[in-house]
Amino acid sequence: MDDWTTLGYLASAVLFILGLKRLSRPRTAVRGNQFGAAGMLIAVVVTLADNAILGFEWIVAGLILGAAVGAVLAVRVQMTAMPELVALFNGFGGGASVLVASASYIEAGDLATDSPRLSAAAALAALIGAVTFTGSLIAFGKLREALRWSGFPGMRIVSVTAAAATVVFAILMIADPANPLWLWLLVAVGAVLGVLVVSPIGGADMPVVIALLNSLSGMAAVAAGFVLDNSLLIIAGSLVGASGLILTQIMCVAMNRSLLAVMFSPAPSGAGGPSADDVYAGKVRSTSPDDVAMLLEAAERVAIVPGYGMAVAQAQHAVRDLSRRLTERGAEVVFGIHPVAGRMPGHMNVLLAEAEISYERLVEMDDINPTFEQTDVTIVIGANDVVNPVARTDSSSPIAGMPILDVDKSGVVVIIKRSLSPGFAGIPNPLFASDNSLMLFGDGREAVVGITKALQEI
Ligand code: NDP
Repeated sequence: MDDWTTLGYLASAVLFILGLKRLSRPRTAVRGNQFGAAGMLIAVVVTLADNAILGFEWIVAGLILGAAVGAVLAVRVQMTAMPELVALFNGFGGGASVLVASASYIEAGDLATDSPRLSAAAALAALIGAVTFTGSLIAFGKLREALRWSGFPGMRIVSVTAAAATVVFAILMIADPANPLWLWLLVAVGAVLGVLVVSPIGGADMPVVIALLNSLSGMAAVAAGFVLDNSLLIIAGSLVGASGLILTQIMCVAMNRSLLAVMFSPAPSGAGGPSADDVYAGKVRSTSPDDVAMLLEAAERVAIVPGYGMAVAQAQHAVRDLSRRLTERGAEVVFGIHPVAGRMPGHMNVLLAEAEISYERLVEMDDINPTFEQTDVTIVIGANDVVNPVARTDSSSPIAGMPILDVDKSGVVVIIKRSLSPGFAGIPNPLFASDNSLMLFGDGREAVVGITKALQEI
């Protein structure tokens, strides 16, 4: 590696770190993104200039193909599908590490015999990458709500056996580096392990898994960096791995679950709990935008609690207009943000920031919960699981123990959603049948626009 390459890598690493730092605040996040992109551009250019092992025609073909797929995805993917796309990206990161590390390891051939370090790094990259790849594909299916499979009886024993087998194959790779069979077996069993570990996880534990897979994709890159002896890959992978781990920890605290509990004792499926009919029959009261406007007209303190449905309805701008109108009328308006509302960490913050809702108005769960008793009206827009009181009362529910936003403690709760359908966890929500709840059925955006209009006419 010549001095220019070292200098380029150093510049990239500094840009990555500065970019990450800026990403931690909404105001500086766009600049942070630009720093990261610039760092990546330098990294790609320097790497290509330093050691083009392949002919440039292959690299250009790969760039064109990758850029075409990326461009189509960027244009076609809906904002609501971003979390699935992120899950897929994690998986591709893991898959790429497997391919790169495996190719280098096989190419090294006899060299690997003299370097147990190379074999160990290749084994780690292959294992972590394969687990991340298939685990992320399962997470993708779950986020799309296309996959509800949660395993089979005795799956835990199979998982433990598979995990033990990966350790054996990794040791064999180091002991017998000339034989690529151990590598392929490790990749195959690692891929099965990813499916086995992620499949039983669902409900409130999914955010933790997404954050963990993100971290694993970084760790796989670190191991691949050791195989390639590429310091920048090691640094970039470490940044992803460490930030993913921090996020995993934040999600665990938010869910009131330990990482071990998430991985090894998945939340109950909720099967056998009360049916929707038991919970709702004859107890749900519906309302209209005009009636909600009348309620808001008299309210001094209003809380707005967004959830995944706000993202689906793209109602954030309508919500901003409503909050402005209420503030102009003298009401105090705050937004209650649950850490796992939506389908990716920070989902609600991103949407509300896009609508230029001031960050000071966004109140974290622990801070807003004690204030619901003094709140006249809470508007729940497209949130379901994060306001489901069952989390507090039913230890057999998939969201048991998850801290929720205590909206049921406010004077009146207006819930905007299209039907009584469940949320991600797939269970009924007694909040909708509570005495102080009113359901405003309809699309989130249309309903909020209707309320704002009705308020103007009062
Ligand atoms: P939920 O998934 O619990 O509920 C969303 C609700 O939005 C649905 O009940 C749906 O009801 C309603 N909705 C959908 N479209 C619209 C629309 N156009 N207008 C109005 N309402 C709409 O969302 P929450 O945010 O409350 O909870 C998030 C869940 O996702 C949690 O279980 C969490 O664990 C999980 N999760 C979170 C991740 C994260 O990182 N944040 C990652 C993975 C999973 P209806 O169809 O009747 O309109």
